Amino acid sequence: MNIAENIKRFNDELAGTTCRLIPISKTKPVSLIMEAYNSGQRIFGENKVQDLADKYEEMPKDIEWHMVGHLQTNKVKYIAPFVSLIHSVDSLKLLKEINKQGIKNDRIISCLLQIHIADETTKFGLSETELFQLFDDNEFKQLTNINIEGLMGMATYTDDENQIDKEFKFLQTIFENIKTSIKQPNVNMTELSIGMSGDYKIAIKNGSTMIRIGTDIFGSRY
Ligand SMILES: *Cc1c(COP(=O)(O)O)cnc(C)c1O
Repeated sequence: MNIAENIKRFNDELAGTTCRLIPISKTKPVSLIMEAYNSGQRIFGENKVQDLADKYEEMPKDIEWHMVGHLQTNKVKYIAPFVSLIHSVDSLKLLKEINKQGIKNDRIISCLLQIHIADETTKFGLSETELFQLFDDNEFKQLTNINIEGLMGMATYTDDENQIDKEFKFLQTIFENIKTSIKQPNVNMTELSIGMSGDYKIAIKNGSTMIRIGTDIFGSRY
């Protein structure tokens, strides 16, 4: 497994598109992530607050760190000073805490809203109805230190490509709808974060602007 070659292969595949590669370095040691860094990669994603904070401390400061995993309200404070993008926001309660920590750190924190698209009950996320309720909420409208940059979703873990395609299409439709219908200062929809190692090709066909790739870059986690 040559990490630099894997990154180059993905970047070549994405060349000429508006989709960016977000390598997911979760569970991998700093030494391996540095191989990617030294090949020019400057964005990485992690799914646990503690690992994200530790790697931020240890690694070069020109890295953009993305949080992609489920985020608990009481842990926002540990990543608020530096996180570039939180992909996995799924409640008003969490947004209010991110906003509060944004104010404390004098920065606007970029977020994606995670939408539940999979045919599984275990994956987090808002329903379409909850998403529109959120945009209508007066408390939400008053949040000054967050910026909603787009949507994130995880498809069902299945070999059925038609099902994955349907789920990504569903999310892309919501994304395009919001882009034109929601006009609020803290909503600026540009990013659609869909696609992982197993399904990124289907995600790109459905308008992904960020593919989150772990296994295909860093190898299996088991
Ligand atoms: C682990 C993870 C990924 C990457 O998964 P791979 O299948 O290893 O590419 C993407 N998104 C999230 C939210 C993850 O937790």
